[in-house]
Amino acid sequence: MTIRPLVILPDPVLRRASDPVGPITAEIRTLVADMFETMYDAPGVGLAAIQIGVAKRVVTIDTSKEEGVRDAKVFINPEIIWSSEEMRVYDEGCLSIPEYYGEVERPDRVRVRFRDIDGNEQEIEAGGLLSTCIQHEIDHLNGVLFIDHLSKLKRDRVIKKFAKAAKRDAA
Ligand code: ZN
Repeated sequence: MTIRPLVILPDPVLRRASDPVGPITAEIRTLVADMFETMYDAPGVGLAAIQIGVAKRVVTIDTSKEEGVRDAKVFINPEIIWSSEEMRVYDEGCLSIPEYYGEVERPDRVRVRFRDIDGNEQEIEAGGLLSTCIQHEIDHLNGVLFIDHLSKLKRDRVIKKFAKAAKRDAA
């Protein structure tokens, strides 16, 4: 397993829509293992493959809060098939937008259809942090970032800040 470098705002790669995964090959299994390694190292609760530069519809999530307990979940080709009308606000962050947080309103509960690491079709209904996290990560697969859900003013400000930092690092 390898910790892979994270793609950081304003890298245009983050705006790319990811492609569906076909058969679960050794390459996909390695990708998933590397995503968990990268996510735990960061540390973060969720990661989409595009955040390590791979445009495949793969998401890893671990929202377990207990110290030393892991609840590694992988979602391949995830799709939201139902969302609750009830909404919920959560202060979101993103490994691709380090140390920036913003309140995003999303459906409280969602039902998600996906394939597991063995290629079997699964469905789960998620609430709480898992629900927020799945919706945030599925956005990534469509080139959408959580800052797109904030006001234009806030979004422009954070993009500008990160563009400046990228320029400084490149200099
Ligand atoms: Zn993110």
